[in-house]
Amino acid sequence: MGQQPLTPQAVVSGYTGSSPAAYRLAKGWHEQLDITKAYLNKAANKMKKWADKNRRPLEFQEGDLVMVKLLPHQFKVFRKVHKGLVRKYEGPFPIIRKVGKVSYNLELPPKLKIHPVFHVSMLKPYHADLEDQTRGKSQRAPTAVVASFERDIESIETKRVIRRRGVPSYNEYFLSNAGLRAEYWSSSNLQLKEPELTVGPEGCAAFLPDDAQIDVHSAVALIEKDNIHFIPHNRYAEFYNDPAVCLMRYSKDGKVDAVKTNNNKILHAKEAVVIAAGSWTGSLMHNLARDLDVTINVPVQPRKGYLLVFENIKSNLRLNHATMEAGYVNYQRTSTENSSKSTDISMTATIDAKGNLLVGSNRQFVGFNGDLDMHIVEQIWKRTQEFFPALRNISLESLSQEMKVRTGFRPYMPDGKPVIGPIPSMPNVYLATGHEGGGISMALGTAELIADMVLGNSLKLDPTPFAAEGRCC
Ligand SMILES: Cc1cc2nc3c(=O)[nH]c(=O)nc-3n(C[C@H](O)[C@H](O)[C@H](O)COP(=O)(O)OP(=O)(O)OC[C@H]3O[C@@H](n4cnc5c(N)ncnc54)[C@H](O)[C@@H]3O)c2cc1C
Repeated sequence: MGQQPLTPQAVVSGYTGSSPAAYRLAKGWHEQLDITKAYLNKAANKMKKWADKNRRPLEFQEGDLVMVKLLPHQFKVFRKVHKGLVRKYEGPFPIIRKVGKVSYNLELPPKLKIHPVFHVSMLKPYHADLEDQTRGKSQRAPTAVVASFERDIESIETKRVIRRRGVPSYNEYFLSNAGLRAEYWSSSNLQLKEPELTVGPEGCAAFLPDDAQIDVHSAVALIEKDNIHFIPHNRYAEFYNDPAVCLMRYSKDGKVDAVKTNNNKILHAKEAVVIAAGSWTGSLMHNLARDLDVTINVPVQPRKGYLLVFENIKSNLRLNHATMEAGYVNYQRTSTENSSKSTDISMTATIDAKGNLLVGSNRQFVGFNGDLDMHIVEQIWKRTQEFFPALRNISLESLSQEMKVRTGFRPYMPDGKPVIGPIPSMPNVYLATGHEGGGISMALGTAELIADMVLGNSLKLDPTPFAAEGRCC
């Protein structure tokens, strides 16, 4: 009672008792403890030696510029970003102050929403190029900043020149230049958004969220129905199967006063005559102008295309968007006027409001020959199957009951631009043609432009590239 208990340590150091066996046992433990401690020290020193091999003592001062290592798994903001896209180091950022022995508080851009205190091991000093201070400073936003980033825009590029071997160089204009929003989807993203569509791992897609679909037949039916109200006011008349054959002039001021139809009906022009006869505009203008002794040559040509319409198609194909192979838009690259035999096929596929599957299409110069070529229909179906595996086991023969084929003539202008504007020798006669494969989407814009021209309003876009002068007369 009242004494400290004897430990092996105490026994060994000052043992004077009568039990030498206990003394030896305690001494043995003591020696083993010393040996163990010695080994542990040796192991710790060895580990330190290797750990310190690439370690440099780092100390930063307030205001120093440092690069920060951002580990993707550490920050929530990075979780949406693929780790391969996170840069190893971001910066340079200035040090505000030292926090504790080994941590520093940094001044991060406010848009980078992460905690600004970092362990020294995550920092490395930033060495500026003394000759060129801007070198090494990234102009890109830090990876986690997805909304916007304070950065000076030096110039806005509206186009880029494409140079390829064996092909004359040409300009490629950016969609944003035309006021269109566009999102670019990788192959894997596309798989999520449009699971039935296959473009391969190298493929990708541009998604245009502002684009919409129109059912042309329903739209025309609606316009006709509404226009009936204008008949009593002499502001609307229908002349189906009664083509225009002649322009009439009553005075010598160059103005055209009326249009005569094949059945001798006269349509009086109050302000203007608009010739919008698509692929027929060239021959029509030629005939109309001949009687007035005016030379006009609209080089528009018919470019035939097919649209396959499948009603109640019994496939599992689900489409969330209208889809179009990029080559379909690049129509100037495809078949030329001289290659009348060849046909270009590019995939377009969509499901209309009635649930029909619409599949297209081809481009072909065969004049106004409206014959149906089943070989082309098969080629279009084959191209579609390449993009949609769900259709690969469905033969065209098995769909013959559900399929209807529509053909049309796209009004093609050799220079790729529509003709929208007045004819100089007939100032109140306007042309609106040559829209090729985009006449439906450009219809409202064309109508607005023509209406503004006729009424003398200020124009919303520069009409010079579409002028008839220099291209048709
Ligand atoms: C398969 C296919 C798919 C297409 N897909 C799209 C698409 O997705 N989006 C798009 O924007 N565009 C598309 N187009 C293109 C579009 O159809 C044309 O650009 C558009 O129809 C051109 O319109 P337009 O009024 O100039 O000519 P047209 O539509 O050809 O109309 C011209 C009209 O003039 C009439 N006419 C001819 N001569 C006379 C005369 N002497 N007197 C009175 N009338 C006359 C004709 O009967 C005809 O009705 C497609 C075309 C095809 C073939």
